[in-house]
Amino acid sequence: MATLFEKIIAREIPADIVYEDERALVFRDINPQAPTHVLIIPKRPIPGIRAVAADDAVLLGHLLVVARKVAEQEGLSEGGFRLAINDGRDGGQTVDHLHIHLLGGRALGWPPG
Ligand code: AMP
Repeated sequence: MATLFEKIIAREIPADIVYEDERALVFRDINPQAPTHVLIIPKRPIPGIRAVAADDAVLLGHLLVVARKVAEQEGLSEGGFRLAINDGRDGGQTVDHLHIHLLGGRALGWPPG
């Protein structure tokens, strides 16, 4: 069954998309935890980091380059930002389609709760 994020990629569910290319999509998180909170996802449905293979290395690198581009686009280059990937139950993952959170626009606490 298609995940929520596959439905966003297919435009079956609306999202506030801020960047798109042939391999990646970036949209605003529906429940933002910072002034900027977007999700960077591959269009190919990889369930999470535990499911990645050596062949995915180029795609994963591409997602980080996209994160840098979107951070610039969102005006976060000077103040900085955080990238986070939650994986599995203990990691707090709720959608089984790999996604990188990009958070910024305020000072973020560490460690996470
Ligand atoms: P995670 O908990 O790491 O799996 O992150 C999933 C994220 O998806 C959460 O931050 C949710 O707020 C976000 N989310 C859930 N549904 C939507 C949606 N329809 N549009 C945008 N973001 C969503």
